[in-house]
Amino acid sequence: MKKILISLLFPLAMGQAQQTDSPLNIILMIGDGMGLSQISAGMYANNNQTVLEDFPVIGLSKTHSKNNLVTDSAAGGTAMACGEKIYNYVLGINSKNEKLESVLEICEDNGYNTGLIANSSIVHATPASFYANVDSRKKYEEIAVQLSESDVDYFIGGGKKHFNERKDSRDLIKEMNTVDVVKSFRAYKKSDAKRIGLFTYDDEPPSIIEGRKPLLADYLTATLEKLDSREEPFFLMVEGSQIDWGGHANDIDYITSEFIEFNNTIEVAMNYAKNDSNTLVIVTADHETGGLAITMGKTEGFEMVTGFNTVGHSATMVPVFSYGKFS
Ligand code: MG
Ligand code: ZN
Repeated sequence: MKKILISLLFPLAMGQAQQTDSPLNIILMIGDGMGLSQISAGMYANNNQTVLEDFPVIGLSKTHSKNNLVTDSAAGGTAMACGEKIYNYVLGINSKNEKLESVLEICEDNGYNTGLIANSSIVHATPASFYANVDSRKKYEEIAVQLSESDVDYFIGGGKKHFNERKDSRDLIKEMNTVDVVKSFRAYKKSDAKRIGLFTYDDEPPSIIEGRKPLLADYLTATLEKLDSREEPFFLMVEGSQIDWGGHANDIDYITSEFIEFNNTIEVAMNYAKNDSNTLVIVTADHETGGLAITMGKTEGFEMVTGFNTVGHSATMVPVFSYGKFS
């Protein structure tokens, strides 16, 4: 899996003389907990429309972790980031206790610019899968240290307190002296630093229903503008983090509102790739959450009756959509 990925990204490095113009830009979009039922419910709530209908290539992914049919977001994130199935609750360390390298780190080593955008905290399991190697996803302060020592060029997410209100009294924001850690989205857009970080909230960001702002699509638009202005290719991971939290809450309005925000963000990525033939967009999920089913509904107004099977995750396969070069 990893070999295939590397040969796709860096054909010359793998000795495959191929006519490629410039290296591939990659936008990986992860809807946490976004199974087919979440997509279906979100699509109906969005007047029966989703940009996912425009993706020409669609597959299915087996989400189980190393020893459990039901994965968590740490093992699920690591599988996507590092290409290996590991134990639940672990980040970037395999079952032989070996540290794994992520696609983001491989891209960094090959001269890429990289970015992580999430509407959870930036130390939460999904974004952390791309830069951390930790035996427990709950070790937020250790994960924060690992982000501060990483080469990630742009990051946007919550969880500032894990960086500057720590048990060890370190101020990682000050320690990250090669990153312009800005105080507002306006400052993020204005900054022309080569590395920029934006903490959106001290702790976990609220939901869309509770008024989370700015929107994920705005963050992606601003970050793509920066990446586009630079010469190097880029790898960007964007997470719709809270589709999962709506599933855990068994709250269909929470799920559909978070899905619609994510859908609008996917549209931004899709439009970028339509204008840049050197960009690949992949949209997928780490697992399904809630065991959601739509059991009744009308086409008029798209009202749904829904039911849940669990407040946890389920083991069902999830879809993978891709568009663009090498899709
Ligand atoms: Mg997540
Ligand atoms: Zn979850």
